[in-house]
Amino acid sequence: MKINILTLFPKMFEGFISESIIARAIKSEVVEFNIVDIRNYCYDKHKQADDIPFGGGNGMVMKPEPIFRALEDVKGKVIYTSPQGQKLNQQLVKEISEEKEITIIAGHYEGIDERIVEHKVDMEISIGDFVLTGGELPAMIIADAIIRLLPNVIKKESYENDSFFNGLLDYPHYTRPADFNGIKVPDVLISGNHKKIEEWRIRESLKRTYIRRKDLLEKKDLSNSERKILNEIIKELEGQNNEK
Ligand code: SAM
Repeated sequence: MKINILTLFPKMFEGFISESIIARAIKSEVVEFNIVDIRNYCYDKHKQADDIPFGGGNGMVMKPEPIFRALEDVKGKVIYTSPQGQKLNQQLVKEISEEKEITIIAGHYEGIDERIVEHKVDMEISIGDFVLTGGELPAMIIADAIIRLLPNVIKKESYENDSFFNGLLDYPHYTRPADFNGIKVPDVLISGNHKKIEEWRIRESLKRTYIRRKDLLEKKDLSNSERKILNEIIKELEGQNNEK
């Protein structure tokens, strides 16, 4: 997959593309990054990328010409990072990960001239109901979430068990030592009984989702056995509440 990112601050991406799983994915050619400095498309003497807003008011607006020009040199769906966009979730990440090439525009200041959004942007994506100084971090978040779903980046079984992939939160994880200062890991995990471990994980995943994110359970189509376990969990939790 090729990811083009249009930004006024290309240096912000240096760490992101040179470390850990993302760096490995680039090295193994699963993903290619093209970080485009919007300023290279500002043809005036001062390379001015922003200007005052029509109608007055605070802040600057990113000018249309450089971004329209930069978009001529890239392909794929155009995503604009914006607090006003569709909120990012795992389903949307999965859909985008199936594209061959995408272009992400990172806004700054008051944002980009609306004519870019109207004429060039296919999708506006928000990473949450809060406002950041720029779209660089959201662009990295979108790219990171996509890349881990690409083939051979991480094990399929690994991301398939992660939160949201199958509509539930992940189960809790523990590593060695089994006893840390007297705090022990659940016995079942060191029992060697794989069937019991699997049952425990399904149960914990359902329990966490029920306690923390009931909204996810409302959307999920539970299997009969999952429904049975969830009913047991609900009874158990109600019992604990009645004891209090
Ligand atoms: N005036 C804009 C508004 O209120 O909708 C906010 C502009 S914000 C200060 C500057 C840039 O940061 C935006 O153009 C966008 O690219 C990015 N940005 C800020 N918050 C974001 C969020 N929650 N999700 C995605 N991008 C965001």
